[in-house]
Amino acid sequence: KTPVPSDIEISQSCILKPIDQVAKEVGLLPDEVELYGQTKAKVHLSALKRLKNQPDGKYIVVTGITPTPLGEGKSTTTVGLVQALGAHLHQNVFACVRQPSQGPTFGIKGGAAGGGYCQVIPMEEFNLHLTGDIHAITAANNLVAAAIDTRIFHELTQTDQALYDRLVPSVNGVRKFSGIQIRRLQKLGINKTDPMALTKEEVSLFVRLDIDPGTITWQRVLDTNDRFLRKITIGQSPTEKGFSRTAQFDITVSSEIMAVLALSDGLDDMKKRLGRIVVASSRRGEPVTTDDLGVTGALAVLMKDAVKPNLMQTLEGTPVFVHAGPFANIAHGNSSVLADKIALKLVGEEGFVVTEAGFGADIGMEKFFNIKCRYSGLRPHVVVLVATVRALKMHGGGPAVSTRKVSLPLIKRVSCLLSSLQNLQLLAKGCSNLNKQIQNARMFGVPVVVAVNAFRTDTKAELALVVQLAKEAGAFDAVECTHWAEGGKGAVALAQAVQRASQTPSNFTFLYNVELPVIDKIRLIAQQIYGASDIELLPEAQKKVALYTKQGFGNLPICMAKTHLSLSHDPEKKGAPTGFILPVRDIRASVGAGFLYPLVGTMTTMPGLPTRPCFYDIDLDTVSGEVNGLF
Ligand code: ADP
Repeated sequence: KTPVPSDIEISQSCILKPIDQVAKEVGLLPDEVELYGQTKAKVHLSALKRLKNQPDGKYIVVTGITPTPLGEGKSTTTVGLVQALGAHLHQNVFACVRQPSQGPTFGIKGGAAGGGYCQVIPMEEFNLHLTGDIHAITAANNLVAAAIDTRIFHELTQTDQALYDRLVPSVNGVRKFSGIQIRRLQKLGINKTDPMALTKEEVSLFVRLDIDPGTITWQRVLDTNDRFLRKITIGQSPTEKGFSRTAQFDITVSSEIMAVLALSDGLDDMKKRLGRIVVASSRRGEPVTTDDLGVTGALAVLMKDAVKPNLMQTLEGTPVFVHAGPFANIAHGNSSVLADKIALKLVGEEGFVVTEAGFGADIGMEKFFNIKCRYSGLRPHVVVLVATVRALKMHGGGPAVSTRKVSLPLIKRVSCLLSSLQNLQLLAKGCSNLNKQIQNARMFGVPVVVAVNAFRTDTKAELALVVQLAKEAGAFDAVECTHWAEGGKGAVALAQAVQRASQTPSNFTFLYNVELPVIDKIRLIAQQIYGASDIELLPEAQKKVALYTKQGFGNLPICMAKTHLSLSHDPEKKGAPTGFILPVRDIRASVGAGFLYPLVGTMTTMPGLPTRPCFYDIDLDTVSGEVNGLF
């Protein structure tokens, strides 16, 4: 249809297949599928076990150039590509995408189901609660936070014996350690199973985690852009007897528990990772874990359903897994290993799994390769790099799109107008960013296909220039696509290029060896991927490098928290900046998920709302029950 109706109008006008039919079509057995109504289902991990001898399909990762705050169409292209491969070229396909955070859905960016005629549907289900995975993560995360502060409080207000009596209560005159308590005793080197046999010193060691409040790195989370929670004081009620401290809320999707969900390869692995999470150091300088807090089992129970991928469908009826979270700037921003693994089995050797890595290739894709692929053992065949004329013009010196002060509909209109002013020189200059992101992808030894996501306002000459410059920069192929306006049909040429690229040998390599010192790994990413001349570790970051190296976490991969709006740490620096020094402010350890997490520049882990947030446009029709205004 021209003009293309709004995303929600398209989504709601489409006839959906019942989700159990989709499940059957992809080869899932009825007892592997847990229906959540007619349009969503969870898939049991037993499917992976059943299919373990089945060869994997081709693994395609979609990434992008450095975007404008509006996004350049990665989700839209992921969906367009599977619609083209599945519904038009009749291949077995699966898309694996991330569940959006409600922060941006109600804030600046709107939904993340794709757009136009390439969407995961129903988009209101996809964009809002889905099957509750993010809520489960919030619950699990905040249980840990409550456990930490309460434990400190109890330890400071009670004697060793009183603590012991409560931690190992006598029931009918008998005391017994629980499984998690026996693990703690073993960690302390106390090989006793009889609670009456502990010496006074052992009782004291056992009951006191002795958390140093100044070292707590675990924060509370919420899936709402609530900037007033960036710094808070907790414990202000008199019942907490003056044990107050400053703390903060992060957005849920940046929680380590979300990263654990994404990187786990089964229930057992998830439980182990949940127990390994380090929340603080003791006053003796030893790491304190979730297992020490006694919370591992409860976390696993809270997460037992969230770990199952969610099955949905595209507008053209092809299957989609929605699993794990976004935010490749402050998290790793990739969909789950489990969803990818199950999908790769389901499509079979000749099929295609298209998975999405968040934001630009400098962050989402770098983390996809160096973290996700390292843990999953999976090796991608092709990188699809999405580029738009509007973003490349911005990189060439055209006006940047700011979402701070104006409304999203207005920004969209203005950005359309701006990009419609054909300026090939500006565009060619901005292709420096495309060039650098192509090199970034090629650095990992995987062929790159550039998808030039065409907007109505782009001219033929502009689109042709991007295609030409992408090829000159070393892309395997570059293709103009019109899937947003036309659905899968508009991405058939892209799908064919991907098919061809997937036949070429991929010589995948990691960027760094995890055994390198922490600073060297950060420097390698900064210099090779971002174009920095060097890094600068601020005092807090230097302290953490020493601490984590001493605690034995120096050999973890690196998950940089950096702005997605520039290859550098400064969102104002467009194109492909060089010669800058990347400031590393602090480093956190996500030991359970399995990475160190340097905070670059002034990155915040809790976004805010603009003056006119998306929620102004969202409404419920109380007669039909329909949701309006999501896009
Ligand atoms: P990303 O995944 O890169 O953040 P999305 O796929 O979510 O980007 O797209 C961002 C927004 O841009 C969505 O609202 C989408 O509908 C819109 N969009 C994407 N491609 C086009 C296009 N070719 N023409 C018009 N709007 C588009």
